[in-house]
Amino acid sequence: MNPVVLLYLIVGTGIFVIGATIGSFINVCAYRIPWQKSVIWPESRCPNCLNAIASRDNIPILGWVFLKGKCRSCGVEISSRYPIVEATVAILFLAVFLVNVVIHPVGFGMLDPGSILRMIYHQILIALMVTAFLIDADLQIIPDSITVPGMIIGLAMGTIVKGIRPEPSGANSIFEAFGVGLLGLVVTGGLVWLVRIVAGFIARREAMGFGDVTLMAMIGSFLGWQAGVLTFFLGPFFGLPVSFSKLMIKYSKKWLGLPISARDNELPFGPYLVMGAITLMIGWHHIWGGWGKKFFHDLYVLFSS
Ligand SMILES: [Zn+2]
Repeated sequence: MNPVVLLYLIVGTGIFVIGATIGSFINVCAYRIPWQKSVIWPESRCPNCLNAIASRDNIPILGWVFLKGKCRSCGVEISSRYPIVEATVAILFLAVFLVNVVIHPVGFGMLDPGSILRMIYHQILIALMVTAFLIDADLQIIPDSITVPGMIIGLAMGTIVKGIRPEPSGANSIFEAFGVGLLGLVVTGGLVWLVRIVAGFIARREAMGFGDVTLMAMIGSFLGWQAGVLTFFLGPFFGLPVSFSKLMIKYSKKWLGLPISARDNELPFGPYLVMGAITLMIGWHHIWGGWGKKFFHDLYVLFSS
């Protein structure tokens, strides 16, 4: 086998394993952060029998598969959500590696610290966004303890590491890079804030939570304002099928005279923003070159004429 391909396979496998392990940690965070519990202590326990989960059963993805989704001590079913989150994060980490290191490398690719740092930068954003996704889907909140440190990391890493942000958010100096991050944070967060106020005024109820504002500000600080604004336009496309099916369920329940649960009325927006941002991050080279650049050009023409 070609040694370069072999090297990519080995490193890719390692990144998949790291992704699955971080996915496992994200499961713990999503469960504990909303209750302000420590994410490192105590160790994971079965929510039913409270027995500590043995380290051999705590292996990401495989632990759940070997146990056939049941607690070893009491046999209660363990949600398939855990291995799904672990596998999803592992696949996303691998995709970020492929995009940033294998397909569109900086300089010397895998041997170039620029490529590696750019990969890690995007993987940090994925980890933060997946955690926000889960908490928002569960409780319709996005804690500041995720988005505020996220903004700081996005600003700091984006400033210190040259060329870490995607085109057209590159910068030639540290000051420019800080400006790009700050602009991304303010414009992206500000856009959601504005829409939240206007929509709230028209609908006379809360359309989006403030958590969506901070989530988007974090995304903007990492990726720049263009990717942030596009995220806001792309998010609803992911939300549409779900909102439509929720509406159908609600009306069929009404029609059948079944009770409507609180869940039928809930519609967190954060998860769709996260899906939009992840799609943009992974497909950015094609999206920006394909229609992203044109989108902003047309918008500019529209408003300047
Ligand atoms: Zn148990």
